[in-house]
Amino acid sequence: MNTPPEAPAEKAADFVREIVRQDLAEGRIKEVVTRFPPEPNGYLHIGHAKSICLNFGIAQEFGGRCHLRFDDTNPSKEEQEYIDSIKADVKWLGFDWGDHLHHASDYFDQIYAWAEQLITDGKAYVDDLSAEEMREYRGTLTEPGKESPFRNRSVEQNLDLFRKMRAGEFADGHCVLRAKIDMAAGNINLRDPALYRIQHAPHPRTGTRWCIYPTYDFAHGQSDAIEGITHSVCTLEFEDHRPLYDWFIANLPVPSKPHQYEFARLNIEGLVLSKRKLIELVTSKVMTGWDDPRMPTISGLRRRGIPAAAIRAFCEAIGVSKANSEVEMSYFDHFVREHLNTHAMRRMAVLRPIKVVIENYPEGQVDELDAVNNPADPNSSSRKVQFGRELYIEAEDFMEVPVKGFFRLSPGKEVRLRFAYFVTCKDVVKDAAGNVTELICTYDPATRGGDSPDGRKVKGTLHWVSAAHAKQAEVRLYDYTNIEAKPEVLTNAWLEPALADLPAGESVQFERLGYFSRDKDAGLVFNQTIGLRDTAKAKGK
Ligand code: ATP
Ligand code: MG
Repeated sequence: MNTPPEAPAEKAADFVREIVRQDLAEGRIKEVVTRFPPEPNGYLHIGHAKSICLNFGIAQEFGGRCHLRFDDTNPSKEEQEYIDSIKADVKWLGFDWGDHLHHASDYFDQIYAWAEQLITDGKAYVDDLSAEEMREYRGTLTEPGKESPFRNRSVEQNLDLFRKMRAGEFADGHCVLRAKIDMAAGNINLRDPALYRIQHAPHPRTGTRWCIYPTYDFAHGQSDAIEGITHSVCTLEFEDHRPLYDWFIANLPVPSKPHQYEFARLNIEGLVLSKRKLIELVTSKVMTGWDDPRMPTISGLRRRGIPAAAIRAFCEAIGVSKANSEVEMSYFDHFVREHLNTHAMRRMAVLRPIKVVIENYPEGQVDELDAVNNPADPNSSSRKVQFGRELYIEAEDFMEVPVKGFFRLSPGKEVRLRFAYFVTCKDVVKDAAGNVTELICTYDPATRGGDSPDGRKVKGTLHWVSAAHAKQAEVRLYDYTNIEAKPEVLTNAWLEPALADLPAGESVQFERLGYFSRDKDAGLVFNQTIGLRDTAKAKGK
């Protein structure tokens, strides 16, 4: 496993930034123009965030611009819902395409005209081979391909057939338009690649205007050229497509000459980062939706409570290289905790409650105690928390017969209730089955604020909430190392009242428990974002 080094203090220029810097310095370009080109056939995932941070980041750093372009050339898999989610996700990550929201479909007329141009130039032909035959004719990595019997049709015949394809005279799959390059080329992508396919499917943007659609290869570079993209940055699997990208740019009267550069895609240990597999998880209802907090999608991470700034910091730290590698999950978690530790407010919440009655605390009395909002911030504000005669503490913070090393509450023991008082357990109340249902305690009024005036020490500090003031909530605990694991749903959690006003999506630290985020579901529902510590590391794993 390959954990990248910690981010250097000075941002190291990766190879893409280095190319951009030189192109600007040596006057090959006046302004850098990049693009992020998602296909709207699913929601974005954390891998896409790497590409977004790289493309938009370069534009920001070098004073250029980055376009958001939907690569919407395959209407059978593409939907408006995906387009909307992608826009929302890019914005949420903190990036802005300004006036440059584009679609490959905006260029369908131009791309079509260029296809006719290739036909006229004798560089494209309509092929009637079936998909299966075409695969056979293509050859292999070690054997050259064979020329199609339809390869030498005349320009007139090709133009006529292509226009008939466009006019809807043929069924799906009846024929395709192919570039006429070289069936013996070492690079299979150059063995007469498909340019246009027949697809009688309505398109989210162009409706039923078209029944033929350009392939990714025939649309992408030309779209870059139309938009004046200077650096078309994509992942390594497109490296072998670059000669084809360049062939189109060289053989068409395009308005600019973009270049393609490839970098290693982000892989994270144990995470599914393929839209195809993520779609399966959604359609099979293993997930509640694309934004299920277990999903490695941007919307899932957002619902889980992962801050956008943590994703950006992570993407910056992993860097950009040409070598494929896998990043450990704990490396991502590190950036999440680092951000939340400095930004998330502390609050008290009891997930599995047991009631405490302070028998020497006057009935009906309420104390307002100061609680700091974030001890990691020296200028932190504070809030008031209410203390009363009846409280909830975490059931696991009590042991009737304490094991060795248990310093929390047990009969006869004194502990600190955070921000409040020292309390001592005097007695336990049990139900008929012998389960402890209530703890009878006393408090020491002299310890208000959680300090003892006589220097008396206690070993345990517990979080708590006032039973009269706390709000009941549902808290969902997730095992993020196993995407298919169902959450543990705690329906009798009790939260300090301030948490009832927290907007959905905001993260807080539940003291001693971890980071949690308010869910969008109705009622008071929280999702666990991440634990306070890396437990795998703590266990020496
Ligand atoms: P998937 O493999 O999940 O289906 P994709 O590459 O087909 O993803 P696109 O919508 O085509 O998805 O991707 C848009 C951009 O995001 C492309 O430039 C692609 O190279 C980049 N991208 C996709 N996955 C990753 C990844 N894991 N790491 C970095 N960049 C990625
Ligand atoms: Mg793709």
